[in-house]
Amino acid sequence: MNDFRADLHIHTICSDGTDLPLEILHKAKEAGLSGLSITDHDTTEAYTPELFFEAAQLGLSLLSGIEISSDFGDATVHILGYGYDIDSPPFKAFLQEMQERRMKRNRVILEKLKKKNIFIEEEELIAFAKKGRKEKTIGRPHIAELMVQKGHVPTRQTAFDLYLKEGACCFAFGFKYDPGEVIAKIQEAKGKAVLAHPHFYKKGAFLKKLLSFPFDGIECYYGNLAKELEIPWVAVAKERGWIATGGSDYHGAMKPYIYLGASYVNKETFDLLFKKSP
Ligand code: AMP
Ligand code: ZN
Ligand code: FE
Ligand code: FE
Repeated sequence: MNDFRADLHIHTICSDGTDLPLEILHKAKEAGLSGLSITDHDTTEAYTPELFFEAAQLGLSLLSGIEISSDFGDATVHILGYGYDIDSPPFKAFLQEMQERRMKRNRVILEKLKKKNIFIEEEELIAFAKKGRKEKTIGRPHIAELMVQKGHVPTRQTAFDLYLKEGACCFAFGFKYDPGEVIAKIQEAKGKAVLAHPHFYKKGAFLKKLLSFPFDGIECYYGNLAKELEIPWVAVAKERGWIATGGSDYHGAMKPYIYLGASYVNKETFDLLFKKSP
């Protein structure tokens, strides 16, 4: 019981990771994890009946998860959702809308790149990112990878630093919904809404406003984050009665320096998230 570890932040090929959902299960087992949640960007595509079946076969506890993008002031804020009802029609419709918003946003980014003499067609990006998959969340990491492949930049990181990161010349907003609205969508689907990687965001007034939204939890344990940097977020969780969650943000070969299980939660926390909200 004491050595139960669950990694609650994992990306697959359904968004910008490089492993198949089923591969993640086997890697989680090899890593000695007892539970996990796959949290692809703006999609629940990984959660097929086969995934739940295989998880049960392997003796792994699998919690429904997602990472949803929101627009807040001049920043994008990521919100994790756990334990939501996968079949909720309004939640599904919301995610469909998010996919459409994403494609619009991708188009704006490609237009901006064009002005910098970097020519990528929308169809080219879709074909490159999907590699034959039917559904997939496409975003900046795929644009960055294609820019490398076409020889415009030496690395994906350079693509972000020079063109795609927040504030760079070719960045675009486009998710529309603010954190409060995304939290409501998750909670309406009986899920728990968790502020992802809070240490990434600007401090001061921005953070104060962000922490005033009605989250159920906050991601205190993250990737390879140093122990002492977790402490302030654990204090925030305690103060507000929020669940302190954690996970690696594993993306496979997309972020090779992050391994599965780099951060995790115990059984007690996992069960709190697993319990359906009323
Ligand atoms: P998107 O969903 O299109 O906004 O892309 C978000 C993803 O891009 C994140 O999950 C990260 O994997 C990656 N990303 C975001 N910002 C950066 C950055 N500054 N440098 C490298 N990767 C980034
Ligand atoms: Zn990502
Ligand atoms: Fe994120
Ligand atoms: Fe993530």
